Amino acid sequence: MIRFDRVSKRYPPGIDALSDVNVEVKSGEFLIVGGHSGAGKSTLLKLIAAIERPTGGAVLVNGQNIGALPRGAVPYLRRNIGLVFQDQKLLFDRSVFDNVMLPLAIAGFAPKEAARRVRAALDKVGLLDREKAMPIALSGGQQQRLAIARAVVGRPGLLLADEPSAHLDPDTAHDVAAIFREFHQVGVTVIVATYDDHLFPGARGVRLDHGRLSA
Ligand code: ADP
Repeated sequence: MIRFDRVSKRYPPGIDALSDVNVEVKSGEFLIVGGHSGAGKSTLLKLIAAIERPTGGAVLVNGQNIGALPRGAVPYLRRNIGLVFQDQKLLFDRSVFDNVMLPLAIAGFAPKEAARRVRAALDKVGLLDREKAMPIALSGGQQQRLAIARAVVGRPGLLLADEPSAHLDPDTAHDVAAIFREFHQVGVTVIVATYDDHLFPGARGVRLDHGRLSA
């Protein structure tokens, strides 16, 4: 489903974030991407979602060469990808419900069906009873669960998460990890970049070291 074929990414003015990376992720797989800070983990995820483009090699998602995707085709690609990234901020002036509704409103869903899906997503992450709350009233772990609900409300086949357990205490980090496992169990392909690979026992792991895949 996802294939990196000799992928490199050089950021200006000459930072090699990824060098000659080959990796394949099958549909329905759970992959952990480990490695030190600055190893290239976020960049790897961003290339899959066409947030960044490779400067060498090819990234294929369902047979499509993401690096060559016309700009206009990117929203269509993203419709099947849920993103839990640090820079995908919650809207702090909107309720929990509205934060999860936003992607569906943008996609043009009928309000009734959208509301049903929003509540299903909030239920999955255990936040159904907080739908009227403002994000500021939530704990760090609850905010992270809200970000996950927003990422999955469009029922993507692929979920990409960048350090989803960062800044969480160990118990909360385990709860968040369990949510990713549940999505994997229902067939979603999940790729998580994390230092906390012990949170995902049994998942296949690869490791980046200064932009190179080491295992
Ligand atoms: P990780 O997620 O493992 O911490 P990143 O993919 O964020 O690693 O970064 C890999 C390398 O690329 C680092 O040296 C980082 O400073 C650099 N980098 C990341 N994004 C950019 C950018 N937009 N412009 C320039 N350099 C970047």
